[in-house]
Amino acid sequence: MNKKSLLIVISGPSGVGKGTVIKKLLSDNPDIIPSISVTTRKPRDIDVEGVTYFFRSREQFKDMIDNGELLEWAVYNGNYYGTPRKYVSDSLNDGKDVLLEIDVQGALNLMENYPSAVYIFIAPENTQVLKERLEKRSTESPEEIQRRVEAADWELSKKDLYDNIVINRVVDDAADEILSILNKRRNSL
Ligand code: 5GP
Repeated sequence: MNKKSLLIVISGPSGVGKGTVIKKLLSDNPDIIPSISVTTRKPRDIDVEGVTYFFRSREQFKDMIDNGELLEWAVYNGNYYGTPRKYVSDSLNDGKDVLLEIDVQGALNLMENYPSAVYIFIAPENTQVLKERLEKRSTESPEEIQRRVEAADWELSKKDLYDNIVINRVVDDAADEILSILNKRRNSL
């Protein structure tokens, strides 16, 4: 890994608004490269192959695991999600900062192998807002929302394992807070 490049790992429960915070962070900081994950979940209307995710069958995903192509992977709500290893390592070797938006299980696995990455957990002000946001965005069925709310409880119980917890009250403030965490880490390299 290039000494100055940062591997940035961001997690947070479904409905916390991490997509919006990350979008703001990336639009203000075009030098940070988002990794594009592979998943077996069905695309939503807003999804674009190769942009939001690489959508693959379970068989294809399992082949990627067997071939060592994934840096980390996890099963979330019955679907597989994973980070392609080559793109991340090539970008880091080029001296670029790479951002992974991954679930807590994937992040906990990475913490063992990549202790030098910056681990950030985005938390809600309270748990009620999670359900409200999921219902409002109406991209999931009521059953899927319920499963995501249950997963959120477990994810929130692990937040103290992250080096940094950012509470998403106001999107711009949360993005600024993440940027200052990154700058601090960069200055300490
Ligand atoms: P969604 O279905 O809402 O796009 O994502 C569900 C969860 O999977 C989110 O917590 C998201 O951060 C996580 N996720 C997305 N890509 C990856 C990945 O490559 N690895 C892991 N471990 N989790 C991922």
